[in-house]
Amino acid sequence: MTVAVTIDQVGKSFGTGPAALDNVSLEVRPSELVALLGPSGSGKTTLLRIVAGLEQPSHGRVLFDGHDALSVPVRRRGIGFVFQNYALFRHMTVAENVAFGLRSRPRAELPTETEIRSRVADLLALVQLETYGGRFPAQLSGGQRQRVALARALAIEPKVLLLDEPFGALDALVRKELRKWLRELHDRTGHTTLFVTHDQEEALELADRVVVMGKGRIEQVGTPDDVYDRPASATVFGFMGESSRIEVEVKDGVAHAGTTAIAAATQPVPDGPGLLYVRPHDVSLGLPGTPGLKGEVRAFRRHGAIRRVEIGVGSALFEADIAPTVRVPIGEPVAVRLDRARLFASGGPGVDCRAPSAQQTGEYAI
Ligand code: ADP
Ligand code: MG
Repeated sequence: MTVAVTIDQVGKSFGTGPAALDNVSLEVRPSELVALLGPSGSGKTTLLRIVAGLEQPSHGRVLFDGHDALSVPVRRRGIGFVFQNYALFRHMTVAENVAFGLRSRPRAELPTETEIRSRVADLLALVQLETYGGRFPAQLSGGQRQRVALARALAIEPKVLLLDEPFGALDALVRKELRKWLRELHDRTGHTTLFVTHDQEEALELADRVVVMGKGRIEQVGTPDDVYDRPASATVFGFMGESSRIEVEVKDGVAHAGTTAIAAATQPVPDGPGLLYVRPHDVSLGLPGTPGLKGEVRAFRRHGAIRRVEIGVGSALFEADIAPTVRVPIGEPVAVRLDRARLFASGGPGVDCRAPSAQQTGEYAI
């Protein structure tokens, strides 16, 4: 059983102050795994709680398969919910926790004890905790507890699964493992799932589509490739992993940092102030005299598998990722090539850039 979720012009205000949600609309397809990604305070939890029925919107509609869900009481909505802080019942065993939703059903729908036991065994197998039914939450690791929480949410055969930063409290390695595990679980069970996270890597890796939120609004909805490769706004770009953000002045389609031309827009953009975003792995360095902008190494540090170098070009500062075997003395002149950069001019949509021509820069031209 899997349903489409329609969020239609939903707004929510808590007393005075800016709205927590400002006319949010979103279509989630049956069996889709959608990540709500955004900084703290952007309204992710509020939206999830409204879909769950734990909160009423100030206005707007929520539909499950085209039917109004807001008039359906929480218990009847068919929602499986998992929060960040494994809200397991501490005095109950793992098996009792998982069975809780089944045992709370109205008398007419109450499964027999044998059915409950068999369903709990199936669910514990699904979350790979077959032998843990008799333990108490305190005897589990954080990751195991979240898997129990998920089994408990799945026990009622929910129409929609809502996960609010379910791995937020876990360490990085466990998070990564659970991410992969959740994706596989979703592919097997196919519940329509809304997954909240502030971790872009998690959202990109897990989701069929990513909804990027900022200040109560949806900034962009798209596939992981859409939001990463074609960010619709500077906010979205800035949120998609590490990048250098350079204040530029745009003139005739060319972005200048101070007096230095550093990038040329591939589409028409208005003149005026703009922001240029570049990711460290999209910057390559060459020897002086090779094509590129004239830059200078300012600093470097080890960053996992690569070495990250800070380079000054005119008044701009870029970060570039290079092989750790390459020597980069501070103060060394280098040719800097921006393999990819995105320009947001005067609030307009983002456009891709290429290197400015030799005439535009006058630097290191072949
Ligand atoms: P997120 O989950 O993205 O961090 P939230 O949905 O929790 O964001 O919060 C969005 C905004 O709504 C925040 O400004 C928060 O302070 C406010 N907010 C959330 N819940 C309440 C509440 N119960 N009462 C008052 N303000 C709230
Ligand atoms: Mg939240």
